[in-house]
Amino acid sequence: MYNYFFVIIIAILVCDFLVGQWLNYLNRKCASPVLPDVLKGIYDEDAYKKQQNYFVANERFGVLTSTFSFLVILLFLIFHGFGWVDGIVRQFAEHPIPVALLFFAVIGLANSLIELPFTWYDTFVIEERFGFNKTTRKTFWLDFLKSLLLGAVIGVPLLCLIVWIYENTGAYFWLLAWGVISIFSIFLSMFYSEWIVPLFNKQTPLEAGELRDAIENFAQRAGFRLDNIFLIDGSKRSAKANAYFSGLGRKKRVVLYDTLIAELTVNEIVAVLAHEIGHYKKKHTLQMLFYSLINSGIMFFLLSLFLNNVDLAQALGAETPSFHLGVLGFGLLYAPVSFVTGILASIMSRKNEYQADAFAAQYGLAQDLCEGLKKISVKALSNLTPHPLYVFFHYSHPTLLQRLAKLTV
Ligand SMILES: [Zn+2]
Repeated sequence: MYNYFFVIIIAILVCDFLVGQWLNYLNRKCASPVLPDVLKGIYDEDAYKKQQNYFVANERFGVLTSTFSFLVILLFLIFHGFGWVDGIVRQFAEHPIPVALLFFAVIGLANSLIELPFTWYDTFVIEERFGFNKTTRKTFWLDFLKSLLLGAVIGVPLLCLIVWIYENTGAYFWLLAWGVISIFSIFLSMFYSEWIVPLFNKQTPLEAGELRDAIENFAQRAGFRLDNIFLIDGSKRSAKANAYFSGLGRKKRVVLYDTLIAELTVNEIVAVLAHEIGHYKKKHTLQMLFYSLINSGIMFFLLSLFLNNVDLAQALGAETPSFHLGVLGFGLLYAPVSFVTGILASIMSRKNEYQADAFAAQYGLAQDLCEGLKKISVKALSNLTPHPLYVFFHYSHPTLLQRLAKLTV
């Protein structure tokens, strides 16, 4: 039924789409076909030309995918697709738990299948053309199946529990659901490296040698207990280099991509690692976790206000309200809120990046960090001259030039 909720949802989708396209347009206008002066010494002419081609290819593909998914969801709403799926799954089950499971399984699977050809094109055409793709067909399909299975293994019990809480607790639903999700996400972030990553990648402890000695030497200087330094086979999928920090407390570990080790000098790697340790020392990991817990608390509270709404269910094309339609409708209505919380998270994250850089610089690693960051950016053909508004809305890291400027004062 085309009621006021329907109108609001469509308006949100349209605004979201238009703002996204506008930001991309600004960003494209900022790109210059000739190597800008500020990038001389970072990109050479040839690499810059390649970067511009990569940027254009990604932009075109981005416009295509975002327009496509916008149209799919719009048509699905206009033709009451969600109500239709709801009606079908209700022929197979009555109890709210299996109905919700079936509903999200159908929607989730359909979504994965629609995305599949786009991911394929991105991996085997765009990334391939620019020499980044290392993924084999076999790895691609295994990844797809493993992600589906993982989604089911994690999603099914969690969804059962949440629906059960909803059916049995009434007004306390949002508090209990928030508690369950919070405990679960803390648990997952602690065991992510041990349970999830091995399904997709091989992690090996970094071998003894010059690099390990240099890293341990730095960890000692920084007063950081580092038991776990791992090397991950990122080269199995992409030539792009990375390093990250995961886990909490004694589960914490530093993970270096094999591609990073291949490109950077020992000192540059230590500098990148010092930046990662900086995040830990400055308590950024905890801060981000805390922020996301608060966020999900607000989200569950707002969700509880919409779950039993008949008008919302009807806007999606169903007759009666249900948990799963409430969640879906709320998800669509929540977009403006998550847009704002996303911006706040990006602002915090960019501030944290500067702090982690400054931490590395305290140990005399500023120069090495600059060189390491330049190599990583150039190797990944990163766009180094994005539009400031695009950065404000989308970037979790300051741009390379901003970071270099802070590091070299
Ligand atoms: Zn960082």
